[in-house]
Formats: sequence, C-alpha cells, structure tokens
Amino acid sequence: MKFEDYHISFEIKKNLAKLGFKKPTDIQFKSIPPVLKGEDVLAIAQTGTGKTAAFAIPVIDILHRRKNTRRNDGIKCLVMVPTRELAQQIAEVFDKLSRHTRVKSLCIFGGVEQDPQIKSLDGDVDVLITTPGRMFDLASQGFVDLNRVEILILDEADHMLDLGFITDIRDVKRKLPRKHQTLFYSATIDEKIKKLAYSLVENPIRIQISPKDPVSKNVNHSVAYIGMDDKRFFLERLVKENEESKILIFVRTKVRAERVFKAMERVGIKSLTIHGDKDQKDRFDVMSQFKKGEVKLLIATDISARGIDIPSVEYVVNYDLPEQSENYVHRVGRTGRGREKGFAVSFCSDEEKPILKEIEEYLGRPVTVMEIKKNDYHETLDFTEDADDNWKALIIDNENFLKNQKKPNKKKKK
Ligand code: AMP
Repeated sequence: MKFEDYHISFEIKKNLAKLGFKKPTDIQFKSIPPVLKGEDVLAIAQTGTGKTAAFAIPVIDILHRRKNTRRNDGIKCLVMVPTRELAQQIAEVFDKLSRHTRVKSLCIFGGVEQDPQIKSLDGDVDVLITTPGRMFDLASQGFVDLNRVEILILDEADHMLDLGFITDIRDVKRKLPRKHQTLFYSATIDEKIKKLAYSLVENPIRIQISPKDPVSKNVNHSVAYIGMDDKRFFLERLVKENEESKILIFVRTKVRAERVFKAMERVGIKSLTIHGDKDQKDRFDVMSQFKKGEVKLLIATDISARGIDIPSVEYVVNYDLPEQSENYVHRVGRTGRGREKGFAVSFCSDEEKPILKEIEEYLGRPVTVMEIKKNDYHETLDFTEDADDNWKALIIDNENFLKNQKKPNKKKKK
C-alpha cells in the first residue's frame, strides 16, 4: 500500500511526496490506522524504523481536519521524549509533515533560557514536543496549559525510565483531561517497561517491530581470520588479556566444547562447559557458577545455550561460526543486554568463509574485519603457555631461521 492510497489529508500526502516517502515502513503501516481511529498504542520499535512519522502523520491528520479556524484553543497533543536531541529531531519531522496544514508544533527543552519558550507558547500551538523537566517547570508556573490535550505520546519510554522521569510522566498524566489517547513507544521491552506501559495505556493495540539490523547497537561485533588449528591460542590470549571479563564461547559440537576446555586447562585457564551430554543438575551448577562469576569462561553449544539469560557477559566468542545464520544473532545477543555494551568476535578459518558470507547476507551487511598483522598473529602463537603446542612457535622460528639462512646463499650464487 502506498501513502497515496491512505485516507489522509492531501497536504500531508504532498509533504510525504516531497520527502520522498512513497510507502509506509512496517511501523507506519501498523500504527497509522489505529492512531487515526483514536486507539491507544503500545509499540516496541527502535529509532530508524520510521516511528516518528508513524505517530506524526495520523496526529497531524486528526488535528488538521478538526481545526477549522486558526483559533487559539490550546495544546492538543503532547509529545514527551527523554532528550533534547530527540525533541528537536521529532519537531523537525512534525514541521516538515505539517507544512500547508493548520497544525502548528513547538519544541521546548531544558538547558536554555525559558523566556523565549514562554513567548512561543503564547501562540497557537497544537503539538508540544518536550523533555519532561522543562515541561513540568513551565506547567507548574502556569505557562503550559494541558487542559485541552487529547493525545499523549511517550517516545523512547525505556530511556525516560532509565533517566528517572517516571514520576514526571505520572504527574503529567494526572494533569491531562481524563479522556485522552496514549501512544507509548519504547525501543526495548522488559518487565519494568511493561508495568509502566500498562499503567498508562488502555486496551492498547500492540505493535512490535524488529529492527533493520537484528544485532543490537550495543554489541560491537567483528570477525578475525584465524586458522582452525590456531584458534585456541587466540582464545588463550583474549582470556588472559581480559581476566576480569565474563566470556561466553560458542563451539559447533560437544566434542569441540570438551577439546577447548582441555586446551584452556593446559594453559591454566579455568572454564566450564555446557552441552547436550550434561545432565540437568550439571547444567544448573555450571550456569550458577558462571552467573555468579565464580568461573568466568563458559564454553557452550548453540542448543544448550538457547533461552538462557546471563547478566553482564562482556565477550561472546564464536570459536566456530554457527551453521545457521540466525544463531549468529542469538549468540551475539548474549552480550550487550539492556543498556550494557558488549563485544562479540568470530574466529573464522578459511573453511568457514562461506558460512561467514551467509551470515552477512542474513544480516544485510558485512561484519567488520578485525585486521591481525602478521607479526601479531605470530606473537599470539608465541604467547601460548601450552607446552604441547610450543612446537608450533618452534616450527615458525625454525622456518624463519632457514629463510634467513637461504637468502645470503642465493646471493652468493649470483
Ligand atoms: P525514525 O525511526 O523516525 O527516526 O526514522 C528513520 C529514518 O527513516 C528517517 O531518516 C526518516 O526520514 C526515514 N523514513 C521514515 N519513514 C519513511 C518512509 N515511509 N519512507 C522512507 N523513509 C522514511
């Protein structure tokens, strides 16, 4: 369906065309009809999904149709957002979409002088976009009249909750007329947000949009090209250089899990394994030790790790790349939970390059390559404390030694 086919005002359609918006995004497709009907909405959508226009289009349409004269009869829509940047961003969208309509919007926020804002509020403002603090200050001084508000929009509600605006939101809600429509948008959802949302909306239409990039923005994920037989040395180095971090390692099979466990044991690194051969009690003990941070390294297979929620995992290591691309997203999603930052690194051998390609196709973009210089690569092999494997370093040393020996000979022959 195109915007042309929507039952919205001609002026808005023209503005949309000017912006180059032809078809609604997913969130717009799902939000616009219920908002136009006056229903409450509870939407989980991140920035980048087109959520601003998802509420701006129907709100402007409702207000434009209703406002027959340019009479000043108070604020009809209140948009509350956590930050000044977001307020400005949203105000811009309202401005662009309401050109040539009878709808006027205003943006106010803290950190600047309030007098010019008070002056602007004298005009005939229909939509007020604001951060909670400044709005509350002005309302308590009598400069903002909320008696005519029909639509309340809370954007990035999860962020507002984190910033401690919850009391402000509840207080504002109390100042509004009893009958009003509430549109609640959040980028993430957890029990706290759900509780807040359901205390503010009534029989809402629920909408959930998966973001374009399925990997959370909190996760810095990259790939390093490492030979299959060298992976354990790189893991050893990563662990030893991040001793305080909780690290979750994914391998392809249970046999590989035990092998990595033994390789770590040989170099004095304590780890745990979780896979299909472990019974429930073992699994429970392992999870408990890892969650508490008693052991900081957990080696897991995909199936055994599904559905487990572990707080504060700093690193996810794809020791083997997952055969199913969607598991890549599940795996790296074990770090960077909520608002925490996380790192995920994939060890990709030559044989696994086709799998990496599939993963990148699934993600819709390439995974950043972590360049390892030749010297660093060899340094990592030297770094190992694995007595069994020091022969590797010895072979390389020996090769270098022979190369250096051969060169002068060749020259001499000339
Ligand atoms: P938002 O999630 O509201 O921050 O929007 C993300 C980006 O998508 C902004 O740059 C918008 O200009 C753009 N956008 C929103 N709706 C559409 C649409 N229907 N077609 C094309 N681009 C859009």
